[in-house]
Amino acid sequence: MNDTATPHRIDLAIIGGGAAGALTALHLLRHAKAPLQVQLFEPASTLAEGIAYATPAPQHLLNVPAGRMSALPDQPTDFTDHLRQVDAFPQDDDASLAGRFVPRRHYAAYLRQRLAEAGEGSPVQLQVVPQAVLSLRRHAGAARLELTDGTVVDAGHVVLACGNSVRPIPLAGADALPHHCIAEAWDYDGVRLLAGEQAIGIIGSGLSMVDSVVALFAAGQSGVLHVFSRHALMPLPHAHGAPASYDPQPLLAMPLRTRLRTLRRHAREAAAQGIPWQSVMERIRPLGKALWQTLDDADQRRFLRHGVRHWDVHRHRIAEEVHVQLRDALADGRLQLHRVRLQGVVETESGLRLSALSHGAAVQWDLGALVNATGVETRAEGLRNPLLRQLLAEGIARPGPHGLGLDSQAAGDRLIDADGNADDAIGVLGSLRIGTLWESLAVPELRQQAEDAARHAVRELEAAMP
Ligand SMILES: Cc1cc2nc3c(=O)[nH]c(=O)nc-3n(C[C@H](O)[C@H](O)[C@H](O)COP(=O)(O)OP(=O)(O)OC[C@H]3O[C@@H](n4cnc5c(N)ncnc54)[C@H](O)[C@@H]3O)c2cc1C
Repeated sequence: MNDTATPHRIDLAIIGGGAAGALTALHLLRHAKAPLQVQLFEPASTLAEGIAYATPAPQHLLNVPAGRMSALPDQPTDFTDHLRQVDAFPQDDDASLAGRFVPRRHYAAYLRQRLAEAGEGSPVQLQVVPQAVLSLRRHAGAARLELTDGTVVDAGHVVLACGNSVRPIPLAGADALPHHCIAEAWDYDGVRLLAGEQAIGIIGSGLSMVDSVVALFAAGQSGVLHVFSRHALMPLPHAHGAPASYDPQPLLAMPLRTRLRTLRRHAREAAAQGIPWQSVMERIRPLGKALWQTLDDADQRRFLRHGVRHWDVHRHRIAEEVHVQLRDALADGRLQLHRVRLQGVVETESGLRLSALSHGAAVQWDLGALVNATGVETRAEGLRNPLLRQLLAEGIARPGPHGLGLDSQAAGDRLIDADGNADDAIGVLGSLRIGTLWESLAVPELRQQAEDAARHAVRELEAAMP
């Protein structure tokens, strides 16, 4: 850091320009009445993509129907209005467009379009800075940020929207593999380039695995795809069906076991009326945060140890057409799912050899390449983002409940430091809040968090103006 330079002073820094940072900027542009100086720091070349919406592949679909992806909580048709404006899916009527799982590439373009429009009438001066923030320290009443190029910026308020971190591949020997035989599932081009005649191993069986499978098949993969997982549970499909009509509120007062038993009973009763279990899950969708926060500490731990995988596959579902593709590939053997404990991987003359324990027996697979589809890193100790490591190391942040993400206020979104104090000038949103909120990943949660963070900053900054 250059101590002699006078830091540039701004009102608000948004750190991260994925969907969450872009949503925060959008709400700020809409709500501010005063000429605030705002900088959004994002090293990627294209705004609003982050990890989820950077994929150009038409096979990579949103896993939330278009009708629920509006950036604006008070205007639920805003995303489908955008799709109409750009003439996507002209054959769909309003209802089928709202229910459609559209390619994810449409989403970042939508956010950028809305940002540009909101910027036109807003007094806010928003500047996108193509730099990562390396450190954040409190300094003379401001948050002092150091950027990758050494620039120093002082911000009155900060919103941390650093998003998802990749989980390292849990496999001894993977680090020593040559680069051409291993790819991260979120490196969409890298995965596509692996396609060929050789068998490929995919570590992890969740949504990132689904992305990799559909991308590899679309790129001409003819070798078998082997999916390795400790539990061998794959995401389940969405379903069109009548809504379930039970009252979910009593669930909040129940301990975990009774809750799950009650949910299963609701699913059986719904099935008896021809209503899919997915409708039963949809009923509790708005209660995601409350369902987590009303579990006591022991039940939260029990859920993390025994329930989370089953919860994920029922809760984070995929479009029916994608599920059909996976089911067909499983049926004809092009896709094989293995429940294993991975042991290690070594390079061989023709590719690599993966060893694992399957039902206690040692098994090996000869593969051409591996994909790391283990998903989002939620453990604070596993976060590799230099800024987040610095915040944790210096006690400006502390791990969230159960060591998940960063600790933040349950009501409100302020970052909590190592002494348990909430920092009024630092808000945090998205997957970093998972330990506090549990449901804190998808756009229906992010847009509300982004609006709340923007409103908080506007209120505080405008109140402090002369
Ligand atoms: C593969 C995938 C598919 C998904 N599909 C859907 C879906 O269909 N619908 C849905 O609602 N949700 C979906 N999600 C959930 C998803 O997490 C959110 O919708 C959203 O993309 C999260 O955005 P984010 O900005 O919080 O995180 P990210 O997308 O991870 O973006 C964070 C950004 O912050 C930047 N950054 C990080 N550290 C710094 C730093 N120190 N300085 C500056 N910039 C920094 C990064 O470069 C990145 O661009 C999906 C998630 C994944 C991983």
